[in-house]
Amino acid sequence: MNLHLKDKTFIVTGGSKGIGAAITQTLFEEGSKVMIATRSREATEQFIDQIDPSRSQLHSIIGDLKSSDQCRKVIEETVAYFGSIDGIVNNAGMNDGVTLEDGPEAFRKSLELNLYHYYDLVHYALPYLKTSKGSIVNISSKVALTGQGATSGYAAAKSAQLGLTREWAAALLEDGVRVNAVLPAEVMTPLYRKWLDNSFENPAAKEAEIVSKIPLGKRMTSAQEIASMTVFLLSDQSAHTTGQFMIVDGGYVHLDRSLT
Ligand code: NAP
Repeated sequence: MNLHLKDKTFIVTGGSKGIGAAITQTLFEEGSKVMIATRSREATEQFIDQIDPSRSQLHSIIGDLKSSDQCRKVIEETVAYFGSIDGIVNNAGMNDGVTLEDGPEAFRKSLELNLYHYYDLVHYALPYLKTSKGSIVNISSKVALTGQGATSGYAAAKSAQLGLTREWAAALLEDGVRVNAVLPAEVMTPLYRKWLDNSFENPAAKEAEIVSKIPLGKRMTSAQEIASMTVFLLSDQSAHTTGQFMIVDGGYVHLDRSLT
């Protein structure tokens, strides 16, 4: 299947690590140009050096996306460097475990970390997305649907991303801009590794327990499997798909464990 993505330009937030890195790499292999908007300079330079040392297809802009000024710069620099924007993958974020007990300030910071930049980037990119009839993919989480028990800010942000997916799909219908969400559940990434290692006395046992509850194949979803769905949604092969929530999780959310 030809995805027709050659020479198209995409922005991938957090696009040099974990799920974002797999999305960037897949787009690169399809011949697309990618602006990686993230905050870790060294890791990002190394990542680009490995894949595209000439920097003809990959470029980065480093800064914290919590600042809406930074989001505006991401859009301006992408247009200045590559000339257009055919799509945005809102991916940067982390489960920061802000609980009901942590209070209003921590809750607001969590929304800053996980939610506001999803809106800000799309807001500033709007004229370019309308011109290109672009595609937006919001990386959300299973937590948006299931909750987790100790992460109010993250759960609120991830659910709000689903609300925005439906809202923007409706708002941008007439412009031919499609908007979809991808919901991972368990994907081994640098962030996930850190969470396991820092949160549990026996990380290996915890990992085995989690994996044993994933219905399809008793394994985690790979970052590549999330990337494949995301890149399909960016492409015109999904031209009649908008406002959808794609749950790529080996049946974790919907094939209830009581079935087995
Ligand atoms: P990851 O390995 O930490 O990669 C995320 C990247 O985003 C990192 O490079 C991080 O920067 C960057 N980033 C985070 N906040 C940023 C900010 N404010 N400004 C600029 N860059 C920022 O995470 P991941 O596991 O691939 O997660 C990617 C997305 O998938 C997140 O939205 C996450 O909620 C979602 N998700 C993941 C899983 C999973 O199992 N892994 C499950 C459900 C949902 P640093 O390099 O500085 O850390």
